[in-house]
Amino acid sequence: MENKLREIRERVLAELSEARGTSKLEQIRVSVLGKKGELTGLLRGMGQLAPEERPRMGQLVNDVRRAIEEELEKKGAELKEIEKNARLEAEAVDVTLPGPERSAGSMHPMNIALNRMVEIFTGMGYEVVEGPEVEYDHYNFELLNIPKNHPARDAQDTFYINENTVLRTHTSPVQARIMTTRKPPIRVICPGRVYRADEADATHSPVFHQMEGLVIDENITMADLKGTLDEFARQMYGEGISTRFRPSFFPFTEPSAEVDLTCANCHGAGCRMCKGTGWIEVLGAGMVNPHVLEMCGIDPKKYSGFAFGFGVERVALLRYNIPNLRYLYENDLRFLTQYR
Ligand SMILES: [Zn+2]
Repeated sequence: MENKLREIRERVLAELSEARGTSKLEQIRVSVLGKKGELTGLLRGMGQLAPEERPRMGQLVNDVRRAIEEELEKKGAELKEIEKNARLEAEAVDVTLPGPERSAGSMHPMNIALNRMVEIFTGMGYEVVEGPEVEYDHYNFELLNIPKNHPARDAQDTFYINENTVLRTHTSPVQARIMTTRKPPIRVICPGRVYRADEADATHSPVFHQMEGLVIDENITMADLKGTLDEFARQMYGEGISTRFRPSFFPFTEPSAEVDLTCANCHGAGCRMCKGTGWIEVLGAGMVNPHVLEMCGIDPKKYSGFAFGFGVERVALLRYNIPNLRYLYENDLRFLTQYR
């Protein structure tokens, strides 16, 4: 038994000095000192020894046990310290490293164009006003001289909410709201979203943006309209860009005009973008129909005015030579971030 004890002592102490982790230590402890451990087994076998042997052997077993326990404790403390240091090192944060990069966003090209338009017109003294996108038929059509059954309603494929409510098909109802609530002089622009039941293609989208302009005062003439739009064209697209008016028809203006701008791509020489004409159709405009003024409670004998309506997307496409409306809506960052 003495030999066995010596053997255990040497072997276990050797194992302990080799151990490389606290879990290994625990394994050794259980195999020697645990309930079913080697040393515990020896202690249990003491009953078979002669009575005079027992005290000496008990002493020996206790010595071995104490030696192993001491070594366990010492080695345990050592390994814990090593493991703690390893963990601290693994979790260390280098506060001098640069942070994760966050790229800055950029404006959507349509918003850039819209902001520029607003800037130009506010620079000329216009006030920005807004109106609801879910609009009464009354403002969207009736007050703009488009009564029920008027053919112009067919041209604007309208989303109806119910019989008297629509998703506005243009920003013109904001004009009607302004004219019915304010007295001249009036000088406003109304940018915003509008809705038509159109299939999406290179030049159409069921949701798009318009910017309406309205001026009402005494002695306002078509020359004021022409001068205003010429100045806008110059500021938006550069020197040498002017406007051309072609007779047209809108129910709420009389006379009405389709307005072309000098093609900014070829400066009027003719190119593919303008189909060789040197002009690009950009907006509709005209003198506010006296009947509309009257319906909105403004005396057409005393006051006159003009109105114009831009497609904002169209202005942006022309400004940046973008060939297809869809690029504006597909949200491809490779495309969108080119414009700043
Ligand atoms: Zn051209």
